[in-house]
Amino acid sequence: MVRTIILVAAIFALAFASIAQCEPKADETKWLDGTVRVWRSVRVDSLKLAPARLPWLVLFDEKCVHNINPDVKFADQQDKTDRSYRVLGGERVAIFSTEHSGQIKLPDGQTIPAQLISFAANYDGDKRSFFTAALPSIWAKADHLKAEQNLKTLVRSVYVHELTHTYHRNFFARLSVIEKGLKDVENFDDDIIQNTFGKNEEFRDVYVNEIALAIKAEQEPDKAKKRLAAKLVLNAIKQRRAKFYIVENEKFAEIEDIFLTMEGVANWAAYRAAIADGMTAESASRLIRRSGKYWSQEEGISLFLIIDSLMPNWQKIGFGKQRVSIVDLLERATR
Ligand SMILES: [Zn+2]
Repeated sequence: MVRTIILVAAIFALAFASIAQCEPKADETKWLDGTVRVWRSVRVDSLKLAPARLPWLVLFDEKCVHNINPDVKFADQQDKTDRSYRVLGGERVAIFSTEHSGQIKLPDGQTIPAQLISFAANYDGDKRSFFTAALPSIWAKADHLKAEQNLKTLVRSVYVHELTHTYHRNFFARLSVIEKGLKDVENFDDDIIQNTFGKNEEFRDVYVNEIALAIKAEQEPDKAKKRLAAKLVLNAIKQRRAKFYIVENEKFAEIEDIFLTMEGVANWAAYRAAIADGMTAESASRLIRRSGKYWSQEEGISLFLIIDSLMPNWQKIGFGKQRVSIVDLLERATR
């Protein structure tokens, strides 16, 4: 009898220990709360989107994975004991925490290693979005970020970048249709133009020059001159596409457009997040743009800085039911 009691007590202690070990720690919860606050302010004030509940978040550190706001079907399958509740950014969320084995299972069925990663994707037949990312403790161990002074703001901004992508379901859906038709492309991601054409010297020169034109337009304080400078960028983009995206490369015009739109607006949102987190516009821009060596990221944010300053309320068109591209927005902004 005594032995049974001891055994039961031991099992309880073990179960309790595993829950307690995996519930989000106080500093993680505090950082997440601040991140959701910043996301809410960017979503409402910068992206001008209607209030909405957080999507399904799958966040993990070295040891534990937390499914936050998961789909009801998922919640029903979980052992109720590892569920906890938190208020993040004013929203009460259910969190399912458990130890992982180095692999993270995602809502769309794929499995990823528990390493430095962050992305958004569709699930449930493109009807819904989720976001997955490593928590700051994993980012802090990355060699290339060891010297970063503003790591917590950077990771927070990356989260906002990806949360912005949860509003890109129709873009993701179109990309997966395009991807099925591509046979000769290894990595179908936002660096595809750079990876495919970066070794073509002529293409590279034209593209690098185009980015320089965009930065010039972005930095022009006078509105009328800015509009003219933006027109030059628009023409440069159109000319480059007309010249290089022909015959078997015709498909790249749409591919470039989609990635540039998605990365541009998400990077711009990340920049707004760094400002909302207390940085000046100048240091926020430096933090988000890093070296500026990735074409779609750099040209994308530059174009959205131009669009935002020339066309208030571009968000209404940019986040409407139809997919509206960055070039289309720039065209409207320069009219
Ligand atoms: Zn992105």
